[in-house]
Amino acid sequence: MTDRRCDVAIIGGGLAGCSAAIYLARQGARVVLLEAKNYPHHKVCGEVLSPECGVLLDGLGLTEWLGQRQPAAIDTVEITSPSGAHWEARLPGTALGISRYALDHALAEQAACHGVDLQTETTVTGVQGTLEDSLRLTTRSPAGSSAITARVVIGAYGKHSRLDHTLNRAFTRQPQPFVGLKAHFDGPRLPCRIELHTFPGGYCGLSEIENGKINACLLVQNDVFRQAGSIPAFLAWMQQQNPRLAAWFASARLISDRWYSISQIPFVDKTVVDRDVLMTGDAAGLIAPLAGNGMAMALRGAHLAAEHAISFLRHERTAADLRRQYAADWQREFRLRLRLGRLLQAFLLRPQPLALGLHLVKAMPPLGHFFIHNTRDTHLR
Ligand SMILES: Cc1cc2nc3c(=O)[nH]c(=O)nc-3n(C[C@H](O)[C@H](O)[C@H](O)COP(=O)(O)OP(=O)(O)OC[C@H]3O[C@@H](n4cnc5c(N)ncnc54)[C@H](O)[C@@H]3O)c2cc1C
Repeated sequence: MTDRRCDVAIIGGGLAGCSAAIYLARQGARVVLLEAKNYPHHKVCGEVLSPECGVLLDGLGLTEWLGQRQPAAIDTVEITSPSGAHWEARLPGTALGISRYALDHALAEQAACHGVDLQTETTVTGVQGTLEDSLRLTTRSPAGSSAITARVVIGAYGKHSRLDHTLNRAFTRQPQPFVGLKAHFDGPRLPCRIELHTFPGGYCGLSEIENGKINACLLVQNDVFRQAGSIPAFLAWMQQQNPRLAAWFASARLISDRWYSISQIPFVDKTVVDRDVLMTGDAAGLIAPLAGNGMAMALRGAHLAAEHAISFLRHERTAADLRRQYAADWQREFRLRLRLGRLLQAFLLRPQPLALGLHLVKAMPPLGHFFIHNTRDTHLR
């Protein structure tokens, strides 16, 4: 088994992991970034970058790349209920529709350009040690098992991974009753808008990404999904529940090789520093997708983790301070958004309260603006 040393080892090369790697490498840290898959790869995601992501991606040097890919510009959100109630509002800025297939790949390449040691097809299987004594990661790849010793470890491995069970994280003992599905389509255009069409126990987002393709992405309660028995049967049932979904899918053609799915999606509180790993992105906490803010939180949270890691590497704070201050800063920045997102999601899953709620926000526009503004960072634009 080979053993390597670095300042910071990052587990997971999604948005949070790649962006943390770029910030750290720019500060002169020796960074190893470990990603279980190869690039590019598809991810279950609505693929709408909320308005504040423009500033965050600019800070990572991706503005020119984004311009070349011509993402879809999105400034309006519409929510519908099965009974036909609907509500439409302007977003606080322009969101961008771009596939994760392209975006994660671009960020990983940017990290490699900054000198990050990017190891793909490498799964982290364990973490041991402490911040005081350094941490030791064990990894598995096609080349075999290997070990890495790092002064700081950042956990950016997403919503739910086998590693969470290995680390015995408390949230894995709570129920996680959601399934996510996504696929790309050729279909009726949705200029400048994201549509969220609800059905009993779930909602399906439709929005454009680059090249005029449409991303359909949905979240559904596990028991509702299982009742249908298969993905095609569930999709047919879902379209019967909301006439807007039936109308759109009737004119759309699947262009992905298949529907991508994930299960056990945890909308629960997580520990931000666990076994001395600084968790970030979805590994620290996942916001309900309807808020469209998970990617912004991943990018911003990565910056926060990188800043804290750097001050520890420079001996500006002790291990005890790092644990305490990072967790406190993360909670201060994201806790309200997470709670509000979960509350709104509970409404969206129930057609009758939702229909009433949509009438209410139509009658009281400031209420809708309150929810839109408080599920994101509106200062970052
Ligand atoms: C249905 C749905 C729709 C959504 N829609 C939107 C949206 O429209 N807009 C938005 O902003 N957010 C959305 N989100 C949220 C968004 O997708 C996430 O918040 C975002 O992907 C978080 O990025 P991340 O880097 O933390 O995790 P990820 O992007 O999931 O990256 C984690 C990476 O870690 C790797 N990994 C896992 N385990 C290991 C291991 N042991 N070793 C090495 N690597 C590992 C994985 O392969 C993966 O590449 C949605 C989420 C869901 C579920």
